[in-house]
Amino acid sequence: MRAFTCGHCGQLVFFENSLCLRCSTELGFVPSRLEVVALTEERAAGLRRCANVTMAGCNWTLEANEPGPLCRSCRLTRTRPSDHDAEGLAAFVKAEGAKRRLLFGLFELGLGVETGGLQFDLLSSHSAPVATGHADGLITIDLAESDDARREARRAQMDEPYRTMLGHFRHEIGHYYWPILIEQTGELERWRELFGDERTDYGASLQRHYEQGPPADWSDRHVSAYATMHPWEDWAETFAHYLHIRDTLQTAAAFGLFVTGPRETGDPSLMAAPAEEDADDRSFTALISDWLPLTYALNAVNRSMGRDDLYPFALAPAVIEKLSFVHDRVRSGRLVAP
Ligand SMILES: [Zn+2]
Ligand SMILES: [Zn+2]
Ligand SMILES: [Zn+2]
Repeated sequence: MRAFTCGHCGQLVFFENSLCLRCSTELGFVPSRLEVVALTEERAAGLRRCANVTMAGCNWTLEANEPGPLCRSCRLTRTRPSDHDAEGLAAFVKAEGAKRRLLFGLFELGLGVETGGLQFDLLSSHSAPVATGHADGLITIDLAESDDARREARRAQMDEPYRTMLGHFRHEIGHYYWPILIEQTGELERWRELFGDERTDYGASLQRHYEQGPPADWSDRHVSAYATMHPWEDWAETFAHYLHIRDTLQTAAAFGLFVTGPRETGDPSLMAAPAEEDADDRSFTALISDWLPLTYALNAVNRSMGRDDLYPFALAPAVIEKLSFVHDRVRSGRLVAP
């Protein structure tokens, strides 16, 4: 994420702000420019708020040439909780916030969302069960996961080190990009060498995973235990981590946060000095040489506050190789999915 300032008074503001808390200037996010702007100064050019400002807590805007009334993010949501479902609607606001962060990261990487029929069903499992997942461009998210207590209970039950709404979105979008970045680009054979054969029976794999759990040595080759379930899940988990890494590195850079202190993270080949080039043009090895020391430092910072680690994962060499493949596919995906 970038660091944003109020266009009127210069105060640092967040991606989510619709108002400057210092000077009360109305703020809005412009997707085509990836900027938070002072709306009062841009309205003359035809910039207007998304109609979901209250319903979805949306601070995105539409430009003069865009059909209304919803922004690029809100337009992608096909189904939301009914007007009578107060609990579901509160969870919907949180989910839409995570979705906008997801989309920001995709736009920043040059990955398009308007091809492939991407849509979201954001459903509350209050009355009927909801299965989070992806099918043919449609991503379904269980809004119960917006509730901190329920999500934390599920995280503990599944023995996962990390579980967030944003993480769910980043995992599911990995499934969405699989046909676009792999299947349709002639990279399937190389992909199978790294992730395995996706023709493996999915239902049987799922059953095996929940009956037997992951293999004991799963962390040698996989970023998470769930990634061992099936090659498609390995891809989605790895893709989500790639988005975590790129976004967090960008945020650190936006605030001038570079680790210049201890950088020893166990692998001397990854100990290159921080590079200055644009992240898109850097090899993944260069990115990871910044990422590992940063995660050590931020995990230590979190522990100082009595919090869990910010990034509670260890990346084995085989996982870094998969992430590097994702990096290359995303860079070429800027061409196939504008
Ligand atoms: Zn201001
Ligand atoms: Zn919107
Ligand atoms: Zn999945």
